[in-house]
Amino acid sequence: MEIFKGNKINGGIAIGNVLFYSREQRKIVRRRTENIKEEFSKLEAAKREAALQLEELRRRAYEQTDARNAQIFESHLVLLEDYDLNTAIADIIKNQGVNAEYAVAITGDRFVARFENMEDEYFSARCEDIRDITERVIDALMGGARRLEASEPSIIAAHDLTPSETLRTDRTKLLAFVTQKGSVSSHTAILSRAMNIPAVSGIEVRAEWDERLAIVDGHNGIFILEPDEETLESYRGLQRNDEHQERLLGRLKGVKTVVGNGRRLNLYANAGSLEDIDAALGNDAEGIGLLRTEFIFMGSAQMPTEQQQFEIYRKAVQKMADKKVIIRTLDIGADKQLPYMALGREDNPAMGCRAIRLCLTRPEMLKTQLRAIFRAGAYGNVAVMYPMIASVEEVRRVKRLASEVKEELARENTAYGNIEQGIMIETPAAAIISDILAKEVDFFSIGTNDLTQYALAIDRQNSGLAQFFNPHHEAVLRLIKMTVDNAHAAGIWAGICGELASDLSIVKDLADMGVDELSVAAGMVLRVRKAVMEK
Ligand code: PEP
Ligand code: MG
Repeated sequence: MEIFKGNKINGGIAIGNVLFYSREQRKIVRRRTENIKEEFSKLEAAKREAALQLEELRRRAYEQTDARNAQIFESHLVLLEDYDLNTAIADIIKNQGVNAEYAVAITGDRFVARFENMEDEYFSARCEDIRDITERVIDALMGGARRLEASEPSIIAAHDLTPSETLRTDRTKLLAFVTQKGSVSSHTAILSRAMNIPAVSGIEVRAEWDERLAIVDGHNGIFILEPDEETLESYRGLQRNDEHQERLLGRLKGVKTVVGNGRRLNLYANAGSLEDIDAALGNDAEGIGLLRTEFIFMGSAQMPTEQQQFEIYRKAVQKMADKKVIIRTLDIGADKQLPYMALGREDNPAMGCRAIRLCLTRPEMLKTQLRAIFRAGAYGNVAVMYPMIASVEEVRRVKRLASEVKEELARENTAYGNIEQGIMIETPAAAIISDILAKEVDFFSIGTNDLTQYALAIDRQNSGLAQFFNPHHEAVLRLIKMTVDNAHAAGIWAGICGELASDLSIVKDLADMGVDELSVAAGMVLRVRKAVMEK
């Protein structure tokens, strides 16, 4: 028996045989050619084929997971047409008079080398995207296709896995992932969480493990090769325990969330797609506390029209029947980018033109979204929420735009709902002036992810600072308390939709602070219900 300690990517326990996967090593030779035109036309044909494959993968991602994951292939489609990448490939073919597959391979290696050594986790994680896209084009040029096929449910062990390799695996044959590479924020990690597959990274995977029995303990980031009978038995027990816990939690479905003094707490779910709305209903969420509309925009190749947005919001609202759906206006900027918006590079994007700032500088875009949201308001219990508010003036400006939208809809005789308008409290400024802001809006929802980032001046994306990023910091907790008290003094409600709302070690304290609503990932709803109701 050998025990390896790696990084936790996704929880859960898997026991089964290893399938070692190694990307086929092809020999790509540099070949001089007189016929450069032919190399270019071969390259164009290969890119067309790659684009078709990506379209198909995007469709499957939508069906099997959600819009966020489909967005990965969306960004691969954009990368396929990337100007720098394509110029570099064309230069090599033209200037050196060589074959297309060599030019693609060498360009891919150079770009990966450039990104790989960057400290920034975001950029180093993008290496897997570049590798994926260049390999796909080479496959098409050389007429081969990489495959990851298991004949029986297996633990996939690989040096690294690209997002499309991850998604191409048959889920019924997938027990767990063990990889050497892959940061917590890599796309492959995001996919394994969306697929709910136990996953561990940071393990030096070896070919001779193939077909040997192993255990993946995703809760603790542990991989055990050829476990002895005693270890196996104890992990089988832990697996049964996980299943038992799931069943026990199931009993909390349909139970009202009641906290100290018999006070009712609204336990809502966060969503970024219609699939997430289904998951929210499946986990008995009492409403949607945060519909991150930017994920819907990110899943689309161009800016969705008013009608396209309206259709999605209406479906979300109708699925939730009379339960509340809080739709947040676009929070683009910082780590969330839309290729078709071509926002310029900023030196300090987290402090830059994001969310409400971006929307107020593009009022027509915001008004289009507001029209869609207010129209969806005619179909159920809808509220609109504005992100990243830092001043009263911003609230007044956005409310003026909302009034204009309602007047226009009324003039056109288009049905709309006179819905509640709330704001996110996620800048320290907003928390500090929450007594003034409370007089302007119908509710507050506290975004603890950004509130922690801005209160502590720590980039939430930087995993190297994880030891300092502390949402339990007294400063953050005081800002939350201040916001809740100011909301109540003005007669409005205050909830939390940041990750802190699903931190089981603190949710009871948050309820004791008087928080009226918690909005969490669908899979956490029942766990949070159990934690807040515990005596
Ligand atoms: C937050 O900042 O806590 C929040 C919920 O918004 P997002 O994570 O989308 O920035
Ligand atoms: Mg936020």
